[in-house]
Amino acid sequence: MPTANIAVVGLAVMGSNLARNLASREGNTVAVYNRTTQKTDDLIAAHPEAEFVKAATMQELADSLQKPRTAIIMVKAGRPTDAVIDELVSVFEPGDIIVDGGNALFTDTIRREAAVRETGIHFVGCGISGGEEGALNGPSLMPGGTAESYETLGPILERIAAVAEGEPCVTHVGTDGAGHFVKMVHNGIEYADMQLIAEAYDLIRRGTGKSPAEIADIFDAWNGGELESYLIEITAEVLRQVDAETGTPLVDVILDAAGAKGTGAWTVQTALDLGVPVSGIAEAVFARSLSSRLAQREAATDLPGPSDAWTVADPEAFVEDVRKALFASKIIAYSQGFDEIVAAAEEHGWEIQKGEVARIWRAGCIIRARFLNDITSAYAENPDLPALLLAPYFRDALGQTQEAWRRVVVAAAQAGIPAPAFSSSLSYYDGLRADRLPAALVQGQRDFFGAHTYRRVDKDGTFHTQWSGDR
Ligand code: NAP
Repeated sequence: MPTANIAVVGLAVMGSNLARNLASREGNTVAVYNRTTQKTDDLIAAHPEAEFVKAATMQELADSLQKPRTAIIMVKAGRPTDAVIDELVSVFEPGDIIVDGGNALFTDTIRREAAVRETGIHFVGCGISGGEEGALNGPSLMPGGTAESYETLGPILERIAAVAEGEPCVTHVGTDGAGHFVKMVHNGIEYADMQLIAEAYDLIRRGTGKSPAEIADIFDAWNGGELESYLIEITAEVLRQVDAETGTPLVDVILDAAGAKGTGAWTVQTALDLGVPVSGIAEAVFARSLSSRLAQREAATDLPGPSDAWTVADPEAFVEDVRKALFASKIIAYSQGFDEIVAAAEEHGWEIQKGEVARIWRAGCIIRARFLNDITSAYAENPDLPALLLAPYFRDALGQTQEAWRRVVVAAAQAGIPAPAFSSSLSYYDGLRADRLPAALVQGQRDFFGAHTYRRVDKDGTFHTQWSGDR
């Protein structure tokens, strides 16, 4: 007799926490399965209050579920996910729903959805943000798949999602891989946001000589304004942490080589394919790569830098300039991320509501921020904005910050302090607002050596010049 309405397959940290979150909601009975059965037994023993239904085999899992059966896969991304999908397909029936909550590449999700659809079973790639804490207490959820599958799945997800201003942070993002795509861009924006905050910290520290704890106070103050966000909040905590062993700020003991799991690189690779300039995100990914090239950095330390020592005349004014530069660059990162979403939606036929995406990122995920309300409002006012940064609110914000932003980028360059995300965001901004770009010259060069032709500003058509240097 089937007793469960939802199953979780894969009971490592994410799956266990998601299963516990599901079980804590009124009306849910959760079946649990893990390839290594001992993990299933351990979870059930540790959490009797969850009243999990144990499945030792995939067939037992299918038998324990009411129809349409719904199972959420939380296993290692890649081949393990394919293996588990195959097993579930062999025991599920048409109309049942398989959800992949892992960090899948959206093109894998598109492929899987197409293959599973052939069997009459629904396949939903669902981005889950918020890490293990989010999985347990309320993540931001980005499901793709069919609208029909969302009728069954939606009410279940709405009850486990994070809540922002009374609304669950979940929406049907779009069909097939749309959910995993949006989760990927979320991670790309997260890379940019983190890098920008790190650059702000570095400039303030080296420019004013303030200690990490003093800079933590600055971030706390910033968190009371338009920069209010989870990442600013935790940055203050990280900066305040003292190493128990040495008594020095922990940030000075941590090796300055940033790791990455790949979703930032996916965001950039995809943007390159789509032809969307996500330069802030790309610089953030490359900044991590550069930091990790330790041997090369070691060999380069004696390269010449600026001869004059850098001093900031008015530390308070400089800190305020950095705050403004951070806000402006952050607007660019989000604007670029949404550009990528728009381009992919066009390419894949997804009807993605941009305001809804910002709305479901307001709680439960790493980039949660006050700012997201302004993005939702901007798209509510004009869903067809040519770029997020052109919304009146962001246009005004850039107007109020751009001079400070320029001063900070100039100061960084003169002081020899790397600020790749600040400066590339500013170049992007100036590129977008330029009346004429030197791309005209690039077109001339292309036509010169490759007869690639060019278009003219004064008449239609494509043109080729017989260059005097033509050979
Ligand atoms: P994980 O370490 O990525 O994967 C471990 C789980 O995968 C175990 O249940 C393991 O079963 C199972 N597994 C591995 N190979 C398998 C195979 N060939 N067949 C069947 N099962 C297999 O677990 P996790 O850290 O909890 O992450 C789960 C998913 O969530 C991953 O896709 C990960 O990328 C994603 N994730 C998301 C976030 C986030 O913030 N959204 C954070 C972390 C992870 P055994 O016990 O039998 O080995």
